[in-house]
Amino acid sequence: MVGGGVSGLAAAHRAVELARERGRPLELTLLEAGDRLGGTIQTERRDGFLVECGPDSFLSEKPWALALCRRLGLEDRLIRTNDRFRRTFVVFRGNLHPLPEGFQLLAPTQLRSFVSSGLFSWRGKLRMACDLLLPRGSDPDESLGAFVRRRLGREALERVAQPLVAGIYTADPDELSLQAAMPRFVEMERRERSVILALWRAARKAPALQAGASGARWSLFVTFSDGMEELTRVLATRLPPGAARLKERVTGATREGGQWRVATASGAVFDADALILAPEAYQAARILRYVDPGLALLLEGIPQASSATVTLAYRRDEILHPLDGFGFVVPQVERRAIIACTFSSVKYPGRAPDGYALLRVFMGGALNESLLAADDASLVATAGAELHSLLGVAAEPRFTRVARYPRAMPQYHVGHLARVEAIERAVARHPGLRLAGGAYHGVGIADCVRSGEEAALVLLGASEEERGGG
Ligand SMILES: Cc1cc2nc3c(=O)[nH]c(=O)nc-3n(C[C@H](O)[C@H](O)[C@H](O)COP(=O)(O)OP(=O)(O)OC[C@H]3O[C@@H](n4cnc5c(N)ncnc54)[C@H](O)[C@@H]3O)c2cc1C
Repeated sequence: MVGGGVSGLAAAHRAVELARERGRPLELTLLEAGDRLGGTIQTERRDGFLVECGPDSFLSEKPWALALCRRLGLEDRLIRTNDRFRRTFVVFRGNLHPLPEGFQLLAPTQLRSFVSSGLFSWRGKLRMACDLLLPRGSDPDESLGAFVRRRLGREALERVAQPLVAGIYTADPDELSLQAAMPRFVEMERRERSVILALWRAARKAPALQAGASGARWSLFVTFSDGMEELTRVLATRLPPGAARLKERVTGATREGGQWRVATASGAVFDADALILAPEAYQAARILRYVDPGLALLLEGIPQASSATVTLAYRRDEILHPLDGFGFVVPQVERRAIIACTFSSVKYPGRAPDGYALLRVFMGGALNESLLAADDASLVATAGAELHSLLGVAAEPRFTRVARYPRAMPQYHVGHLARVEAIERAVARHPGLRLAGGAYHGVGIADCVRSGEEAALVLLGASEEERGGG
C-alpha cells in the first residue's frame, strides 16, 4: 500500500477487515512519504479553536464514508451543520448576496427566491428561463462552462456555477468535464431536456432533502466533533501494529519473480503479492514509470491544481457582518484574490470559543494558482484585506494558519472518463495492481473511501456480493 491519506487508509482497513472475516493471514505494509498519516486531512487545536487545514466535512449523500464510520463505531462522533444558517453568499460587485434559496449548483428550483434575487439581472433571469424551452445538446463530453452557457446563459455561469464549482473542484469551468464531475446534470438533460424542470421535479419528490434535509438524520455535509482527522486517526489504529511506515517515499515499483518490488528513497525495499497505489496520480505515474511507461503517461495527463487555506481567528465583535451563513464564494469576474471563505465557527459547533469567530479563506485553484507564489505572510495579508473589505473585519486576527496543498486537487478535464478507462485497462494488465484516490472516479472523501475499499476488495478477490456490501 502506498499513500497514507484517507484513500490508502481506507484500502488498508478494508483489507484488514476482509482478512479477519475470512480467517486469512494478511501481511500489510503502508508506506507514507510524510511524517504523519491523513494526507490532506489535517485538524489542529489551538487556543480553544479547532482548525481544519484541509477538508472540513464530507458529503453524506454518497454512502461510502458514512458506512465506514458506522463500521468503525464512529457514528456517534459525527456532527451536522448548523442548519439555522444554512445558506451561501456570493460576492457580487463587492457585496455579499445570498444565493437564492433552492439554487442547485447550476440552476434555480424555487421561483420566488430566484425572481426576487438581486444576484441576477432581468436579462440574466430570462436567459436562465430559456432552459425550459431549449433542445438537448449533442456533445457527449462537454465542459461545464459550455453546458451552462448553452442552457442557462453567461450570468448563471459567471455569477454562480463558476464560483460554486471552484469551491469544490478548484477548476476552470471551461476545462471541467460535466460528464466526469457532475454526471447527474448530463443525465437530467438526457432524460428531461430542461435542467430546471428536472431539478423542480426532483425537489418535489424529495422536498426535505432539497430544503437542507431538515428532519433527516444527517445534513448534506457532516464532520466529526473533533474534526476530520478523527476519521484517519481511528482508521490508523485499526491497522496491524507497525504496518504504517512513515517517511518512506516510494520512488519506484518493479515486477520481480511474480511479485511487486517497491523501493523507497531511504533505500528500503519491500516485496508484495499485491500493490495498491493511493498517492496523487502524478506520483503513481512516477512509481510505475519503469513497469509501464504508457500507463505512467496516462496518469501524468491528469492535471492537479494547487490551493491554500488561510484560517483567521477573530473576536466576534471585530466582524461587522452578521455571519448568518456558511460562507461565501467569489466569482472569477469579481477579480479578487480569494475564491471562497467558510464561516467555520458558524457552520459547525465547537470550532471557536464563545465570543470568537473562525474564518477560513480558500485561495489558488486552477484559475488563480499564480497567487500561491507569495509567501505565507503575504497570503495572510491578502486574506485579511479581502475580509476587511467584504465582511467589515476591523482588527488584526488573534492567530492565523496557512496550509498549502500543492498539486493536491485532481482536475477532471474534458476527456477524463476516456483517460480513466484507458488507465484501468492498462492497470488490469498488471496482476495484483490497483490504483485508489480522488483522481479517477470522484474527488471527495466519500469517493476516496470507495476507491480505496474497492481496490482492497478486488485484490483480495472479494465476491460481487462483498463488493456491493463494501
Ligand atoms: C484544501 C482542500 C480542501 C478540501 N475539502 C474537502 C471537503 O471539505 N470535503 C471533501 O470530501 N473533500 C475535500 N477535499 C478533497 C479531499 O481532501 C481529498 O479527496 C482526499 O482527502 C484525498 O485523499 P487521498 O488519500 O486520495 O489523497 P491525499 O490526502 O493527498 O493523500 C495522499 C498521500 O500519499 C502520500 N504520498 C504521495 N506520494 C508518495 C510516495 N511516492 N510514497 C509514499 N507516499 C506518498 C502523500 O504524502 C499523502 O499522505 C479537499 C481538498 C483540499 C486540498
